[in-house]
Amino acid sequence: MAFPFPFSAIVGQAEMKLAILIAATDPTVGGVLVFGDRGTGKSTAVRALAALLPKMRVVAGCPYGCDPASASPGCEACRALKADAHGQRIAKTALVPVPVVDLPLGATEDRVVGALDLERALSQGVKAFEPGLLARANRGFLYVDEVNLLEDHLVDLLIDVAASGENVVEREGLSVRHPARFVLVGSGNPEEGELRPQLLDRFGLSLEVKTPEDLPSRIEVVRRRDAFERGPEAFTEAWRKEDERVRKRIVKARALLPSVVVPDATLENAARLCMLLGTDGLRGELTLMRAARALAALDGDELVADVHLKKVAAPALRHRLRRSPLDDSGSTVRVDRAVAELFGE
Ligand SMILES: [Zn+2]
Repeated sequence: MAFPFPFSAIVGQAEMKLAILIAATDPTVGGVLVFGDRGTGKSTAVRALAALLPKMRVVAGCPYGCDPASASPGCEACRALKADAHGQRIAKTALVPVPVVDLPLGATEDRVVGALDLERALSQGVKAFEPGLLARANRGFLYVDEVNLLEDHLVDLLIDVAASGENVVEREGLSVRHPARFVLVGSGNPEEGELRPQLLDRFGLSLEVKTPEDLPSRIEVVRRRDAFERGPEAFTEAWRKEDERVRKRIVKARALLPSVVVPDATLENAARLCMLLGTDGLRGELTLMRAARALAALDGDELVADVHLKKVAAPALRHRLRRSPLDDSGSTVRVDRAVAELFGE
């Protein structure tokens, strides 16, 4: 896939694009859940964004794509490299694109977390680890189509690893731990199976992607898709400057993020909003605060304000609402109503 569809050329889908920009700026926001019908191009935005991110420098030959500049230790082999050179790494490095790894439905746990390399075990009698999909996703994105059809324990595992940034494999006589820091993006079709509320709550952001309902947008979607498929190179070139702008925005936001401040008043409003909505636990507030902070960084603001909270409230909270017997309005409507009540609109 030499030419993924350019991120900037995606028509509409503002919330989807924003959610992915936020997760790319601060992966600790947690995974992104995308609901929508088939054929709404749910994975397009993820692939497009990964493609425009700056290439990442990796230790050459490392199956986990360890970062040679990172202070964190990396995998076992890279840790050994570091120790060898009096703390100075002498590893050869390479530049590679940010990975987007697909986790196919029906993938076994072995394939996901990695397993004993049976071939080497049998032919050479050595216990070697064969890295799985989590290894390949390190520092990139892991895309799970139809996450609602995946077994619960696998979803749990993915969320655990994404949150800890490390994959620990202790079985078949193996004991391996390796970095696995990725943004988890799960797509689902709301009509086929539901995620348990406990799992829903563990995703950072959620959103719904729809086929555009207005005529001009529909025409534009078709026109751009057709132009892209007839001449991907020319189409990509035409959108290069726009994509470059997005890339710079993310690079700046990542650099700014550590110095962005969340004032007490904003934190208070985040808590009030969650109380109004009756979200369980504190994960809602935490995600709301982190998403608002990442958005502030993307906007070049050093202070998080209500304007940021308002913009991320729906994606950060709508999947955490309990069904109410007294209120059958959709969750987006309920979040919007609470935002209006709190901020007085
Ligand atoms: Zn490594």
